[in-house]
Amino acid sequence: MSKVHNFSAGPAILPQVVLDSCIQALQNFEGTNLSLIEVSHRGKEFVAVMDEACSLVKKIMRLNDDYDVLFLQGGASMQFLMVSMNLLENKAAYTNTGTWAKNAIKEAKAFGKVDVLGSSEDQNFNYIPKDYVIGSDYDYFHCTSNNTIFGTQMHHFPKCDVPMICDMSSDIFSRELDFTQFDLIYAGAQKNMGPAGTTLVVIKKGLLGKVTRYLPTMLDYNTHIKGESMFNTPSVFAVFGCMHTLRWIDEQGLANIEKLNTAKANLLYTEIDTNPNFIGTTAIEDRSKMNITFKCATEAVDEAFALAIKDANISGLKGHRSVGGYRASMYNALGIDSVKVLVNVMQTFK
Ligand SMILES: *Cc1c(COP(=O)(O)O)cnc(C)c1O
Repeated sequence: MSKVHNFSAGPAILPQVVLDSCIQALQNFEGTNLSLIEVSHRGKEFVAVMDEACSLVKKIMRLNDDYDVLFLQGGASMQFLMVSMNLLENKAAYTNTGTWAKNAIKEAKAFGKVDVLGSSEDQNFNYIPKDYVIGSDYDYFHCTSNNTIFGTQMHHFPKCDVPMICDMSSDIFSRELDFTQFDLIYAGAQKNMGPAGTTLVVIKKGLLGKVTRYLPTMLDYNTHIKGESMFNTPSVFAVFGCMHTLRWIDEQGLANIEKLNTAKANLLYTEIDTNPNFIGTTAIEDRSKMNITFKCATEAVDEAFALAIKDANISGLKGHRSVGGYRASMYNALGIDSVKVLVNVMQTFK
């Protein structure tokens, strides 16, 4: 069978070693002769998986014990709700940079006043708004680091005197950052970290406990901090997959991962910029290194390109239905060889 080049936006490509570990553990988890998905999450084998996953997150992000690490369920979409329910008492500031940011804003409005400080909705979210100042009277500021659907990415984070909350679902662990500038980070696993079914939440100690409303048990971060992500049954398979991806990330080193992601993105953007048959759809300075959006110059090219990528075993390149065109999602596990295959196909149109 020839190799399929997986540009899926999510669930997305994972390192082969992670898939191998998952297959092995489904058959025989840590020498128990039982499957990972048929043993207690309270057994020492799984507790060790959860512990290692949490400590790897802190190690890779260079965070100390000022932060708690959680693996929750409900996806990043549940975090839109939990963040605002747990933190919004009076008013919060949000940037509106795409579909996911909009969904986050919608949830927050149920709990307090929301000021949208920067929005790129006027140009179908093809850039990152920058000319805003975050007042010091907000409960928090929320931003989306990478806009998966539209292909824009924050390359700088604003100066912020209030807690900064970031949805990093689609670029988590793709680059080096000063993670201590954030007070809460969340990310659905299925883009760049593991199988679908769990969501990473990293919370700075001291952030919680400031709202007066009743927090339902399962929606209260403190429940999960006290329960060490095992208040109820965690998503064992997804957490296991994340732990192995985190091991892989740790072995590569974030600096090397970032370097490769930059090389991959440069390769494809250079082709988009020099090949008249293709057009980039986002502002150059805000281009994402994870999700690269573009379209064909004419309908004839579009038709031929759709066939050519199929012939080249390229999968998952179709753009999101709200944008059209194409989107190459190039997460950590995608090799530069796959990007070269895509670029070679594009070059045949020159
Ligand atoms: C995919 C995505 C989400 C939604 O994630 P779910 O886990 O499906 O809820 C939220 N934010 C961003 C940036 C995403 O890419």
